[in-house]
Parts: sequence; C-alpha cells; structure tokens
Amino acid sequence: MLPPDGVRAALIDMDGTLYDSMPNHARAWMRLMTEKGVDARPEEFFLYEGCTGAWIINHMIERQWGRSATPDEAREWYELKARYFGEMPRVEPVEGARELVEGLRRRGIATVLVTGSGQASLLGRLDTDFPGAFPADMRVTSASVRRGKPAPDPYLRGLELAGVDAAHAIAIDNAPLGTRSGHAAGIPTVGVVTGPIPADELARSGADIVFTSMPECTKSLLQLL
Ligand code: MG
Repeated sequence: MLPPDGVRAALIDMDGTLYDSMPNHARAWMRLMTEKGVDARPEEFFLYEGCTGAWIINHMIERQWGRSATPDEAREWYELKARYFGEMPRVEPVEGARELVEGLRRRGIATVLVTGSGQASLLGRLDTDFPGAFPADMRVTSASVRRGKPAPDPYLRGLELAGVDAAHAIAIDNAPLGTRSGHAAGIPTVGVVTGPIPADELARSGADIVFTSMPECTKSLLQLL
C-alpha cells in the first residue's frame, strides 16, 4: 500500500493517535450533556471522534430537541466542554507514538498534524511532547477547514501544508471518520487501534492497513519505510 517511490510526508491525527485523550473527551462531553439535559452515552463520543466540537453539539441538540444549535449556543457549549476537558487528569502520549514520530523524522519524512480539535490544552503540549515535529505551519486544526472529517478537506489541507501529493504521503488515524477522510483525500491510510474501536471497523472505513496497537504500528511501519 505504500507509495513505490517513497513517502515524503506523514499526516497524523492527534486525539487517540498521538495522545490517549479519548476517555477524557468522552467524560467531558458527558458532563456537559448531563448538565444541559441532553441524553447521551459515553461510548458514542468515541465514534464521533474526528468530528468538530461544533458538529457534535449540533448533532446532540438536533437529536434531543429537533432543532439546530444557535451560533451562541455552539460557542458557549464548546467553551464549557473545553474547560471540563482541561480539568480532567493529565493526558499522556499514546504508548509508541513518540517513537513513531521520531522514526518518521529520522527517515526525512515530514510530519503534519491533522486534527479536528481546537483544544488549546493539548495543542499547546505538542512542542514539548513531540519536539520539532509539528510547528505551527504544519498543523491542520478545527480552525483550518470548514468541513471536518470524514470530508477529505482536513487531509487535503495537510497535503498542501506539506507540499506533497497524495501519492507520496500516508495518513495515520485511529477513528473511522479519520480513516474515511484520509481515504477520501486519496492518501494511503493507516488505521491504528488505540481504544474501543475494533480493527475491522477501521478497515471498513477506508484504512488500507490496520495495526492493532500503536507499538505494533510503529515497529511495522518504520520497517516498511
Ligand atoms: Mg483520533
């Protein structure tokens, strides 16, 4: 599945791929929804992973009350959710993620962040946890594109930032909406299982190759490259 004449850029998701942040996100969403009187289950937020906060808020309000979120509501709810997330226990990088990023960079492969998140508490830690890997001009965040994953836009924007075409890149993502987005952008897409989403779900959602853990992904992918 890898480009025959070499990978020049790796476009990498953040939540659940670089950081083990999904359990905290689910808890923060549940706290918000409970306070607002919206019915929700913690598991569903794992499936919405990769969607923007604005999409999730609109989806929950539509399901509960049959109307769209107002712009003020979307902003206020997202600020609350971000605050609750910031109050959760500290999130650590996914085991093996640092080694993956370092290994890619040692091979001269540019690394680009492609996240639907706008969460300052995690974005602000990237320079410390992954030194030099994701400078400000190599980040696609919720602010970069209007249509988030599973639309191809975030990964297409990542290609632009890297100055590389889809045939010389790989996308690495842990969530079905993310692997769909990478696939829709025409990029060879690597799915990594780091939480409750099973491997076959990622394979069904556009991943060309699936690894059942990040340490396995790191070892196998770096050998292939
Ligand atoms: Mg993710």
